[in-house]
Amino acid sequence: MTIYNFCAGPAMLPIEVMQQAQAELVNWQNTGSSVMEISHRSKEFIKVYEDSIAALRALLSIPDNYSVLYMQGGGRGQFSAVPLNLRNENSADYFNTGSWSTSAVSEAKQFTSVTEHTITNQLDGKTAVMPMADWSVAAESAYVHYCPNETIEGIEIFETPKNIARPLQVPIIADMSSTILSRQIDIKDYDLIYAGAQKNIGPSGLAIVIIKNDLLARSKSTIPSLLNYQLTQQKQSMFNTPPTFAIYLAGKVFNWLLDQGGIAEIEKKNIVKAKKLYETIDNSDLYHNSIHPTNRSRMNVTFTLRNSELTERFVQQAELEGLKALKGHRSVGGIRASIYNAMPIEGVDALVSFMKNFERQGA
Ligand code: PMP
Repeated sequence: MTIYNFCAGPAMLPIEVMQQAQAELVNWQNTGSSVMEISHRSKEFIKVYEDSIAALRALLSIPDNYSVLYMQGGGRGQFSAVPLNLRNENSADYFNTGSWSTSAVSEAKQFTSVTEHTITNQLDGKTAVMPMADWSVAAESAYVHYCPNETIEGIEIFETPKNIARPLQVPIIADMSSTILSRQIDIKDYDLIYAGAQKNIGPSGLAIVIIKNDLLARSKSTIPSLLNYQLTQQKQSMFNTPPTFAIYLAGKVFNWLLDQGGIAEIEKKNIVKAKKLYETIDNSDLYHNSIHPTNRSRMNVTFTLRNSELTERFVQQAELEGLKALKGHRSVGGIRASIYNAMPIEGVDALVSFMKNFERQGA
């Protein structure tokens, strides 16, 4: 039986990447060692690091005036790093769309003054995000922070932050943990993008930061060195021993994406995959999705059934058919199918057919 893993993170990685890593695990490039066992300062590893950055730059067309940093502490590490590096005497504007935005706010409040804006409302009985033109940013804001994809609720913002009315000097920060590399974006519309790796990039614990160089000077030497953007940039992400295996694997995932035809091609597949699931939900009497069509996540498709007993049965039967990790986040319940880049269309087709059968069997 083919297993399809719908976990929200750590999520499935492309099978081709896993097989390559397996083949190279104990004897990497005929060194007689694993890539995990060689010095991060060796010329072999420096090449792994440089190639991975070059592949990411190519995928996202990252302009020269932006740096790419590998950091540790995943997405939450950045909840602290952003305020610690970017705070000033002014309050930062945090736009809240759900659970992860809320966590980012609580963390930031420990280090700086925060103005929180709730930007979801009900439209035609569904949850929608207000258009960016209606977001209000203080003239003297330290920065704007938002989360383009709320992994738990399954709410995605497709609008470009260019549409946020704000004084130009106010930087835009986006937590792209669960949407990075899934669709085309223009890096120039952002000042800082960060992402925990465990969805569309590689092993958990690693975080990627894409930062406009102008912002680096804001980092003060009084903050923890490992969270310091300027220091990390100066030390090429190797102030301490970096997570070498995670970087190696991330590089392989980036190259896999390039082989797929880059972000434009993967985006087309992601649109098809999400559409299949939302259509199945909309055409059924059993499944219900509460997000407005303009903000339905392409990466995390959430839905509910009539009651928790039925939900439990759905999850158990799906597991038996090889469809794993469909249980919604414990804070919201229901079902969540995470369909990141590595999920093949066949996995979505298998889930769709399971959903239809489950309903037909008179659930
Ligand atoms: N932001 C978002 C949008 C996430 O989905 C997650 C993790 N699911 C995080 C932040 C936190 O990431 P981590 O667990 O790597 O700290």
